[in-house]
Amino acid sequence: MAYKITDKCIACGACAANCPVECIADKGSKYEIDSEKCINCGTCASICPVGAPEAE
Ligand code: SF4
Ligand code: SF4
Repeated sequence: MAYKITDKCIACGACAANCPVECIADKGSKYEIDSEKCINCGTCASICPVGAPEAE
């Protein structure tokens, strides 16, 4: 289980700045979660302004 960032992402960077395990990377037009490192805490989903991260 891990979170995944959908195409709704507007690349604001808030999730990457707050992820406790720093597993979110800037991929240009959107951000991407490293599913191997994600601990499924839900922080990214709760702070994202557009609701882009979703639990898989
Ligand atoms: Fe994208 Fe949401 Fe992360 Fe901002 S907080 S970079 S909109 S997923
Ligand atoms: Fe990082 Fe938690 Fe989001 Fe996984 S669920 S990417 S650990 S903030």
